[in-house]
Amino acid sequence: MKYAEKSPALWDAIHKEEQRQQNTIELIASENIVSDAVREAQGSVLTNKYAEGYPGRRYYGGCQYIDQVEQLAIDYAKKLFNAKFANVQPHSGSQANMAVYQALLKPGDKILGMGMDAGGHLTHGSKVNFSGKDYQSYSYGLNVETEELDFDEIRKIALKVKPQLIVAGASAYSRIIDWQKFREIADEVGAYLMVDMAHIAGLVATGQHPSPIPVADVVTTTTHKTLRGPRGGMILSNNLELGKKINSALFPGTQGGPLEHVIAGKAQAFYEDLQPQFTDYIKQVIKNAKTMAETFAQSDNIRVVSGGTDNHLMIIDITDTGLTGKDAQNLLDSVHITTNKESIPGDKRSPFVTSGLRIGTPAITSRGFDEEDAKKTAELIIEILSNPEDEATINHVKQEVKELTQKHPID
Ligand code: PLP
Repeated sequence: MKYAEKSPALWDAIHKEEQRQQNTIELIASENIVSDAVREAQGSVLTNKYAEGYPGRRYYGGCQYIDQVEQLAIDYAKKLFNAKFANVQPHSGSQANMAVYQALLKPGDKILGMGMDAGGHLTHGSKVNFSGKDYQSYSYGLNVETEELDFDEIRKIALKVKPQLIVAGASAYSRIIDWQKFREIADEVGAYLMVDMAHIAGLVATGQHPSPIPVADVVTTTTHKTLRGPRGGMILSNNLELGKKINSALFPGTQGGPLEHVIAGKAQAFYEDLQPQFTDYIKQVIKNAKTMAETFAQSDNIRVVSGGTDNHLMIIDITDTGLTGKDAQNLLDSVHITTNKESIPGDKRSPFVTSGLRIGTPAITSRGFDEEDAKKTAELIIEILSNPEDEATINHVKQEVKELTQKHPID
């Protein structure tokens, strides 16, 4: 089928995006750069196939090879996380969370998750999301002194609220999470424990963060962040009975036909993640993040929330630069450094403005940045945030960004 005329406008936009990625230092903590093999799998003929159901139990004919693909993704996932059950069909992390809630809860049940202002995700009970509309949602935050999770406080809230489900995991939290402490609280109040490890799944897979799989009832994740796979979601558990409920809640409960081309991309990514080089990569991601955090901590006007990082990201408090998170994000965009504004604990500014930035190292590490490059990148951020209106500084930072991105092309 080679006859199709390509839309010039579409391909112009795609080529421009390719250039943007090539010329930008990408510090959005939830982004990464996939291998050519992952992209090939995603762009394969598998996109042509309907396959409602699960391997061996499909509603359509002609699924013999699709079954092999999906079974490979399931088997690799189970091996990677040492889990007894895996569902690789969620179209996204949000779909994975939706299916788990549907499997374990009734509408109107109570869930307790991390507040978005503290670093939780929309699907952990935000009032603008299905998780806060279909369920009664309550939230926990961070200790204002330590800027870390405060288990005495979480326990107190849980005892008061008596949720049916506790959600652990975050989109913006830089410290190791003690799953066992969450387990104890969940057991005390008779709640299920769901861990959303979307951000740190690559660290868990490589033993660089404790695994929630043996501790939680259910674990969800995205596949496109530190796992370096295609955009999508996944659900894992060691409880096979819950696994059955989750399969039904995902299909036919909340999704129709699975995206088998994306599932092929997941299988390829998990295969890569099982290789020893992936552990080296994740270790480098963490080294780069620690280096950046230490560099910021030495500056006069940037503070690292909780004093540092144990993982792939950090939140920086830029109040003393006089800039808001929104201003800083725009300023950094103008010099081809991509970040996102982020609330700091107790932030007085709205989530649309904020006093902080979230900074992550998965994408720069995928293109080969080491600690020296990470240090340089942090220095450039300090330089520009300290002199936001100085033309010479802006030009200097742009030039240095160009040199770093050319030194490490996305190939
Ligand atoms: N869970 C967490 C912790 C996340 O950070 C995210 C996305 O950033 C999601 C779930 C949702 O993933 P998706 O954007 O694929 O729906």
